[in-house]
Amino acid sequence: MNSNCVFCSIINRDIPAQIIYEDEDFLVFDDINPSSKIHKLIVPKKHIKNLSEIGIEENKYLWNKYIDIINILKTSLKVLNFKIVINNGDKLQLVKHLHFHFLSGDDVNDKLN
Ligand code: AMP
Ligand code: ZN
Repeated sequence: MNSNCVFCSIINRDIPAQIIYEDEDFLVFDDINPSSKIHKLIVPKKHIKNLSEIGIEENKYLWNKYIDIINILKTSLKVLNFKIVINNGDKLQLVKHLHFHFLSGDDVNDKLN
């Protein structure tokens, strides 16, 4: 938990979010500024800055769970086509807490970001 981190504050229920999935390790909620019709953020509850800071054991554990969550979202949101975006590094990351963008809808384009 990092008290200066907006995603930790959401996980801690200090600030509101439209939460659509939660388990012991992950929270999924709507992006506040969506860039497509469906724009969810898949966020590990542990404050890890980005992929470069993830430990080896955490990597294996979280990655497995993360794939499961993507499939849960795919099914519950009834989407066949979707895109995952992971921004890494100070220049690309607005929020310095690891998160995975889940983007879908007719307005998702085929660009890399
Ligand atoms: P990035 O760090 O560039 O991968 O993007 C961070 C994302 O978090 C952006 O798409 C923001 O719109 C989103 N975001 C920032 N603050 C909040 C919030 N309070 N609730 C939901 N999404 C947020
Ligand atoms: Zn955090």
